[in-house]
Amino acid sequence: MAAPWEDVLRDEPAIQEAASVAVDAALLEGVLMRTEGEPNASDVVNYAPFTLLPSAVPSVLFEQAYAVQQDFNLLVDAISQNKEFLEDTLASTIKVDDFTAQLFRIHVQVLEEGLAQSVFLGINRSDYMFDCGVDGTPALKQIEINTIAASFGGLTSRTAAVHGQVLKMLGKSKEASRLLPNNPSKGLALGIAKAWELYGSQSAVVMFLVEEVQRNIFDQRCVENELWNRNIRVIRKRFRDVFEKGSLDDAKRLYMDGQEVAVVYYREGYVPKNYDQQNWEARLLLERSRAVKCPDIATQLAGTKKVQQELSRPGTLERLLPGRAEAVTRIRATFAGLYSLDVGEEGDKIAAMAIADPDQFVLKPQREGGGNNLYGEELRQVLEKIRDSPERTSYILMDKIKPQPTINYLLRAHSPLQVSECISELGIFGVYVRQGKEMVMNKAAGHLLRTKAIEHADGGVAAGVAVLDTPYLV
Ligand code: ADP
Ligand code: MG
Repeated sequence: MAAPWEDVLRDEPAIQEAASVAVDAALLEGVLMRTEGEPNASDVVNYAPFTLLPSAVPSVLFEQAYAVQQDFNLLVDAISQNKEFLEDTLASTIKVDDFTAQLFRIHVQVLEEGLAQSVFLGINRSDYMFDCGVDGTPALKQIEINTIAASFGGLTSRTAAVHGQVLKMLGKSKEASRLLPNNPSKGLALGIAKAWELYGSQSAVVMFLVEEVQRNIFDQRCVENELWNRNIRVIRKRFRDVFEKGSLDDAKRLYMDGQEVAVVYYREGYVPKNYDQQNWEARLLLERSRAVKCPDIATQLAGTKKVQQELSRPGTLERLLPGRAEAVTRIRATFAGLYSLDVGEEGDKIAAMAIADPDQFVLKPQREGGGNNLYGEELRQVLEKIRDSPERTSYILMDKIKPQPTINYLLRAHSPLQVSECISELGIFGVYVRQGKEMVMNKAAGHLLRTKAIEHADGGVAAGVAVLDTPYLV
């Protein structure tokens, strides 16, 4: 599945020139990030890392990923409404993982009080790699689904234009014209706008809940500006601001500084380091409110690795999506092998299997944001140490996906231009809105291709490992 520009990759002067054109094009198109040195200042910015050339993606797998996205939207939404399933699935995890336990406590408290929220908005991104089978045929395998703060929908809306220009200057105009248009930021904004409209208060605002350190602000601004263009007011606040200035009225309407909030869009709150005691209190306040949370806490829990693993058990998908046999088949086709490490005979066997052959697996804790998984020798050592301890249950085990590497150049500010062997990860954005029991929107909203050098087992764009890419369908 090579792209038709192998010839160009060896032409060093052409590559050098293309790289400088590419960087300027990225800056012009707004593929931007704040710098590590000044992460909260917009007067010093640079381009977000990206590949010099688009990467080949098999069109059948690309279409398969789009075709299953609405099914995944339904599945996530069904899990979020299934109290028993979440309770049973996370029971072993919350005994050993404090972060998941704290999220779960808020989930239970909000349910006990009775949900004030009646409009639900999900924005997720289902990520895949192309597993290379023994006969060399690639298969679409899900890495994970992100149900909170799924990012890069904004910047990726602008990378195809950059890659188009690079291809043109390298004499590949025909190929450039085949790059697909892609605008997740618009799709995300349409979901937020729909939720805002259904909330039903013209004067209410959309609140982006943002991190203290906001290097990736331009990605968020892409979505934000789509909302302003629709005359929807957006405010940006941190947990700290919510703690200090957030309040609920008698009807549990959420106010910030006296301004009613219709939608809370989280770009924060997915890792333990986002929380101190005050931030947990702020999170609870938001969850208790009538405002549309994207995601609500149940939907965040639906995106945990433990839930992903339980979904792969025979019969689970059928139970969660009754009467939707075709959706179940499409979803299951994307699953890699996933294994529980819960205490007991099954978990003992799985642990022994992974210790015996660690290169076939990935060991995953209940964390997001990249850089947390264990591989190879490290996997073996850690699992050996915890194999007889309940700590084991804070992890899940997954078959390692092995894609066929390709050659590309990764452009990163202040780094030398150098050819790399790379693998790619395709993400599809899903957006849905539910009012009470009725789904009023369910869409695939665009894609994201991220590529990294093979020497890195793990880590996304924000973690400084992967870079933005554009799929070239083959
Ligand atoms: P996170 O929530 O930290 O993003 P992921 O499950 O997406 O966790 O794993 C992070 C990265 O690790 C992925 O982007 C991918 O590069 C790599 N990875 C995860 N699972 C696998 C797997 N089963 N096989 C190969 N690589 C994997
Ligand atoms: Mg991931």
